[in-house]
Amino acid sequence: MSTSEPRPTARTVGGLDDTAAGPALDLLPAKEVVLGPGTPVRRLLPTLGRRMVGAWAFVDHYGPDDVAATTGMQVTPHPHTGLQTVSWLIEGSVHHRDSLGSDVTFGPRQLALMTAGHGIAHSEQSPVPHPRFLHGAQLWVALPDGARDTAPAFEHHAALPGFASDGLTATVLMGSFGGATSPGTAYSPLVGVDLDLAAGADVEVPLEPDFEHALLGAAGGADVEGAPLAHGAMVYLGTGRRSVRIRTDAPTRLLLLGGEPFEERLVMWWNFVGRSGEEITEYAERWNDGDARFGAVPGFGEDERQLAPALPPVPLKARGRVR
Ligand code: MN
Repeated sequence: MSTSEPRPTARTVGGLDDTAAGPALDLLPAKEVVLGPGTPVRRLLPTLGRRMVGAWAFVDHYGPDDVAATTGMQVTPHPHTGLQTVSWLIEGSVHHRDSLGSDVTFGPRQLALMTAGHGIAHSEQSPVPHPRFLHGAQLWVALPDGARDTAPAFEHHAALPGFASDGLTATVLMGSFGGATSPGTAYSPLVGVDLDLAAGADVEVPLEPDFEHALLGAAGGADVEGAPLAHGAMVYLGTGRRSVRIRTDAPTRLLLLGGEPFEERLVMWWNFVGRSGEEITEYAERWNDGDARFGAVPGFGEDERQLAPALPPVPLKARGRVR
């Protein structure tokens, strides 16, 4: 997906001063954002209260939306740099195409992992025909400096490892969890896990104490360490936890996101992650000029590309974080 805001703001993210030195239980309410024509999403990262959780730098949650009578998701070609996109569906189906020639339709519990690295362009659309409901999360992982210029790549993993016990079925999207390791390529220590909880579950979910973590209410809500987590909301758990207690009344899906606190400072603007305003400006100009850095997505005309909006009048620079 794309941020697709008409006037995106530049954000400086990363750095250890935003990381809790110990356990936290901070509810992060979602910000409603409209992507393109009538596609509302809930943005959980970055928000005013928190910019990153480990290397996870962007979290949008959408649905369940009834798209039976609509064209569903229609995200036309747009570029990315310096990040990975992790697409995760609870319900529905998405057709991904990119400038590497990837042409993949993926569904629930499958990992669509795109490493933008040096530069890539992609599109995401509901196929024709498509399932009635569309429900999922679009996540970005920031690439560390040593990997951010890597060659672009796309991975589709239709089967992912996990385990089931005590009313919990865990599916590992990224990293390792409970002895299972995702085949998805990761460039920094992180974890992403789908927690599918039965009604009446009461589980202690193991955590890596050196990581910071957050939980997203992806489908339904739960009680997290005694605090209610609603559908579409996120709770930041801080660092230093060996486990988190989760209880449910009804069947619930949570996304556990975590990782080693991301030390580097980043500049995020529109669909780009860079290290300076000058870099971001160059990415935007090159994309809008049709530069070969990003390539072209087969199947789309030149006039179907999403162009980068006007850059802010003040030069983008890596300012100190402002809450
Ligand atoms: Mn995208």
